[in-house]
Amino acid sequence: MKISKLAQKIQKAKIRVMYDMAREMDDVINLTVGEPDFRTPKEIIEVANQHFTAGETAYTPNMGIMELREAIADYYSDILGRQVDAGSQVMITVGAQEALAVAMQVILDPGEEVLLCEPYYVSYLGQIYLSGCEPAFVETTEENQWIPTMEALENAVSEKTKLMIINSPNNPTGAESDRAGLERIAELAIKHDLVVISDEPYNKIRYSEDPFISIASLPGMEERTVVVNSFSKTYAMPGWRLGYAIGPEWIISEMPKTHDVTVSCVPEPFQYAGAYALRNCDGAVREMAAKYRRRRDLVVEGINSIEGLSCIPPKGTFYLFFNTKALGMSSEEFAFDLLKKEHLALVPGSGFGDLGEGYVRLTFAKDEETLSEAITRIRRYVESMRN
Ligand code: PMP
Repeated sequence: MKISKLAQKIQKAKIRVMYDMAREMDDVINLTVGEPDFRTPKEIIEVANQHFTAGETAYTPNMGIMELREAIADYYSDILGRQVDAGSQVMITVGAQEALAVAMQVILDPGEEVLLCEPYYVSYLGQIYLSGCEPAFVETTEENQWIPTMEALENAVSEKTKLMIINSPNNPTGAESDRAGLERIAELAIKHDLVVISDEPYNKIRYSEDPFISIASLPGMEERTVVVNSFSKTYAMPGWRLGYAIGPEWIISEMPKTHDVTVSCVPEPFQYAGAYALRNCDGAVREMAAKYRRRRDLVVEGINSIEGLSCIPPKGTFYLFFNTKALGMSSEEFAFDLLKKEHLALVPGSGFGDLGEGYVRLTFAKDEETLSEAITRIRRYVESMRN
């Protein structure tokens, strides 16, 4: 008896490998997994509690409850500058993760190809495989601020290409596309008749005063873009597993079918809590974002002050993707050795694709004292390597 070829093809994420190793050690600083260190704001928890106490413990409609879909439609109508219809264009999912997987199941046929900027958030790869498809990697480089050039985009397109996944602000690089970068992708999508999934869970964790731009707001993109977002990062709710997809009716109306046969729905009290968060918690979100900004400045300054390391400041997210090439060791060697000698767990860049080699990802969703100690450990380690 053997496990399936699909199960063999999907690898355990390096983030999880490092995370599991770190959990076995004492006195370890674990900056691997990308989740806020903040608790979910208390008032959001209270709303969920009230709905549990009221006995709302049944299944909900597969698309999700209307209160939450309306709150999301209002929120994204502002971002997109057009009216989003809660009834036909919004669906609630088990985190952004399920929204991505279900959208791909609806859009893709086995054998088709998906454009994926490399380095990439590793779950995309497994989700592409779950749909029986293959990735076609689009090169991005630190020199180009991790934003793909038109040449790199065109190089990756083939007759089999059906979909492109974009993620801005980006995990792991922290890059954010400006309007020109998004326009390039829109031009490519329209020219080759591609669908775009725009994964936007970090749209509220940004360090620029300019408004966030979603590719779904660009001309010609409404009918071919599925926006995916989540409560995990914005409201510090990763364990609640609450996310959503917004898109044209021809895609969204098909999504409840695969959602139904796999997970059915998200618990109703959580959905009410999400609606409350969207309508009432801007202040809490701004406070967390201000803290992330201070932490970002601390780690950027710290890394750039260590001879042999460098980084460009992330424009969004809580990830720092720093360059270790001058040390002349692989990113895995660096990460494993640092964990062994200094009890600091980071993620080797190669865990995000071959183009991540020479970089290491540090999650700065931790208090400033812990982050300062992490920088001290990295400095000590790098100095010991140079001597
Ligand atoms: N997309 C990106 C880029 C992410 O970083 C994550 C979480 N690490 C997700 C999607 C999944 O988020 P969720 O918790 O909503 O499933």
